[in-house]
Amino acid sequence: MYILEAIENGFMVAAVQFQGVSRHFGDVRAVDDVSFEIDDGEFFSMLGPSGSGKTTCLRLIAGFEEPAAGSILIHGTNATGLPPYERDVNTVFQDYALFPHMSVMDNITYSLMLKRVAKQERAARGARMLELVKLDDLGRRKPAELSGGQRQRVALARALINEPRVLLLDEPLGALDLKLREQMQVELKALQRSLGITFIYVTHDQEEALSMSDRLAVFNLGRIEQIGSPEDVYEHPATPFVAGFVGISNILPAEVAAGLTGKSRPFSIRPEKVHFGDDEHAGSNDWCSVAGKVRDVQYHGANTRYQIALETGGELTVLRQNLGSVTRNTGLRIGDSIRLSWHREDMQFLGAEI
Ligand code: ATP
Repeated sequence: MYILEAIENGFMVAAVQFQGVSRHFGDVRAVDDVSFEIDDGEFFSMLGPSGSGKTTCLRLIAGFEEPAAGSILIHGTNATGLPPYERDVNTVFQDYALFPHMSVMDNITYSLMLKRVAKQERAARGARMLELVKLDDLGRRKPAELSGGQRQRVALARALINEPRVLLLDEPLGALDLKLREQMQVELKALQRSLGITFIYVTHDQEEALSMSDRLAVFNLGRIEQIGSPEDVYEHPATPFVAGFVGISNILPAEVAAGLTGKSRPFSIRPEKVHFGDDEHAGSNDWCSVAGKVRDVQYHGANTRYQIALETGGELTVLRQNLGSVTRNTGLRIGDSIRLSWHREDMQFLGAEI
């Protein structure tokens, strides 16, 4: 009733809502008074270092854990006390958790068998799922006869066959090598778009979270430091932790900032926003400029990272795309003197003025 009224009144009911949710294990505050909303149909990532509380949040949504405080709403209904099988969510685990003795088709349709769905319908839905995850010809194989990426697809098909409105994915690509992971990222995102269901995705890989998500939440020590679009979080990190965890850490402390910006507040600047040289902008109030010495040069193929020790103290990383051959690039070597400049708009001040 509540949902119908909300839709009639033009409100979208959130797929998942956390209201002051906590889950502690002894002294460990795995999830500590967390509140957020995930929209229906959204690709939402939970990003954070190991032990920051992402998986516990996912398990709370799935119903494998119960909150010690606060409430969780799934599509507007309080899920407290509901067992996992009564929630309109399904989970894909990192280790896939496939049954080794069963064929791919039986793995995928297992939950339909438990629900006593007729054999013919099971086969038809199983075949549709195999097609969806591009495993059409592999239904008779056993999991051991598949590659890592194929096993991952079976786990995905098995979760999707129940047609959940929310799919929970816990580091689903963690076991794959880099190439396959990148390919599966594109496929997962395309699948989510075409199905239009909510994906809640746990990862500690910031590039994965930035490239796939509509929005992401950055976790630290059981709390959320920032929620926003990938652009928001990357361009405007709200805290020093986010500035350091998402992207390359490039933070100058308050005492160095004071000499450069006139404000005694730490700030971050993304490495690709820092320019070599300051001739074009000399005298402009919109630009900051500082002298430094090259301390290190790291070649990364598509780009090169330069560590520049500033004469004001502090150090900045500068990233340059290798558009030409290495010799045609900056030509900078360790020990060279260089001026750096950046637009004031690209600085993100962090914390209060000291
Ligand atoms: P990872 O990326 O390593 O999976 P995470 O961000 O998902 O980490 P959680 O698994 O949610 O983190 O764990 C958060 C904290 O809670 C950690 O300190 C962890 O050791 C602790 N924790 C999680 N589950 C339990 C449990 N069942 N018993 C005791 N402590 C737990």
